[in-house]
Order: sequence, then structure tokens, then C-alpha cells
Amino acid sequence: MHNSTLTILGSINADHLIQVSHFPQPGETLSGRNYQVVYGGKGANQAVAAARLGAKVNFIACVGNDDIGREMKKSFAQEGMNTAAISEVTQARTGIAMIQVADSGENSIVISAGANAYLNADRVQSFAHIIEQSDALLMQLETPLDGVLCAAKLAKQAGKQVVLNPAPAQPLPDELLGQLTMITPNETEAEILTGVKVVDYQSAVQSAQVFHQKGVEMVLITLGAKGVFVSHQNQQEIVQGFVVQATDTTAAGDTFNGALMTALLEGKSLNQAIHFAQAAAAISVTRLGAQTSIPTRQETLDFLA
Ligand code: ADP
Repeated sequence: MHNSTLTILGSINADHLIQVSHFPQPGETLSGRNYQVVYGGKGANQAVAAARLGAKVNFIACVGNDDIGREMKKSFAQEGMNTAAISEVTQARTGIAMIQVADSGENSIVISAGANAYLNADRVQSFAHIIEQSDALLMQLETPLDGVLCAAKLAKQAGKQVVLNPAPAQPLPDELLGQLTMITPNETEAEILTGVKVVDYQSAVQSAQVFHQKGVEMVLITLGAKGVFVSHQNQQEIVQGFVVQATDTTAAGDTFNGALMTALLEGKSLNQAIHFAQAAAAISVTRLGAQTSIPTRQETLDFLA
């Protein structure tokens, strides 16, 4: 399985980060600090995580016909991924997120989907060969649902693993859930998708049961610092995470997902893969930013040693 290929389909955003003392009121003008442009977007974060952690990655995504889009695409190639399926669309600019980080640690985010909105079913269909020739497909929900569903069907029909990290949270059609091998919501996303508020082990079991009834084989509910709840083949357990000093949890879930798929495609067991993924995610929470915080394979192995 060592030459397995992972296809990731999802968003690319340029995150415009600025630190503020407090969030400005309507009509208020505020001076911010430390303005930075950091590469983000859930799809891109997960693709970068998988590539840094050693997976062979195809990334299906859209950027605009602009400098930041081209720069990001180039950096993804330098990370070692195949960027042939990153389209440069002319109808919109590269996606962005305007992120204010307050001194309290809270953030406030406005997203412009931009080019990400053009990753529809027609475009996905044109990359069918890439999906069908990969061993697994990993997706999120920052790009149009019809494209996600189209990709899921192509992968499932070709007998490949279909994995969805259902973020940001939104209700989903049963048709999509029925294509999935695995789903990886956090507690909030699990509640929105199953109607069961996940507050403890028992409620996690109930929430997972709803996903299983809709056809999902493996359910992993990530619990932040508390680790991961797993439900698979009638067995449930909580796998503890690692204790670290958290600086910024941005991209923790993305790092977890990219790392998890990397380890599974190397032939690791589900529990071993979760262990590896939680180590990578724990490192990411000790650092600032999205792609800036994602560790390499060596850093993760050193952390585990
Ligand atoms: P999301 O970022 O999608 O909301 P979580 O917050 O559940 O996802 O985090 C995903 C994984 O990242 C967790 O299961 C855990 O392994 C790791 N993680 C997140 N926050 C922390 C933390 N404060 N300390 C250690 N590990 C963490």
C-alpha cells in the first residue's frame, strides 16, 4: 500500500490575519497589529498536512487568475503534491478569509468563497480519472455540495474509500452520507448532522449510530483536547489525545484529517492512524496560523518517540 495515492478535493483561501485589541463596533475604525497573509482553506490545509506527513497527494481545487492564487498553487507543488487539478478560474478571485484575532483569543472571520464556488460537479467530472485512480478521497464542505457529491459517487463507484470532514457544519443529504466510508465531524458538526448533542460517551455512541444507519462505516468524532471518539464495526471507544500547551487551534482538525489519511494509506490500523494523527494535530495547536502550524513527518515521529 506504500505507493497509495490520496486525492483531496476542497477549498483554497488566503487568510488575511490581523490582531485587534477588541472587535470594532459599527462605525468604529481601529488600528490592528501584525497583519499577515497566511495560506489557508480547509482543503488546502488538509492537502498540505498529508503532503508534509508523507502522502502522495492529488489536490482538486480552484484559484482565481491572480498573483496570490498562482503563488499558493506554486507552494503546493513545492510541498510535493500534484497540482495539475488546481484550476485557475477567470470568473472570480482566489478565495479569502478576513480574520480578526482579539486579545481575548477569540476570532471573528468573514469568508469570500471566490474561486472555490466554481468547484462544481461539471468541473469535478472533468477530473474523474484522478479520483478513480486514487486509493482514497478526502473532502470538506467549503466548496459546492454538488461537486462534493459528484466526487463521492465517482470514488465509491470505483471502489475507493470516501472520507468527509463535514466542516463547516451544515445539514447534508442522505445521498451524500450513503457514499461515505468514514466521516470525521467535531462535536458541533456531529450535532448538526445527527440531531444528537454530543456531550459525553453515551451521546457520542448515539450520534455515531445515526451516521451508521445512513450507511457510514466508520465514525470519528473529534473532541478537541479530549481526543477522538471512534465507532466502527460495533465497537466504540475514546482514544485520548496528547497534552500540549495550546497557542492556536486553527487547522487542528485539518491536520488531524490529512495525517489520518496518510497513516491509513500506509496500511496502519485505524487506532494507529488516529494516534499518529492526534500527534500531528497536537503539534499544530502549539503554533500560530493554518498552514504555518502543520508539522512535517519527521517532527511528528520525533514527537512520538
Ligand atoms: P476542529 O478543529 O475541526 O474543531 P478538534 O478541535 O476536535 O477539531 O481537534 C481535532 C483534533 O486535534 C483533536 O481530536 C485532537 O487530537 C487535536 N487537538 C485539538 N485541540 C487540542 C488541544 N488543545 N490539545 C491537544 N490536542 C488537540
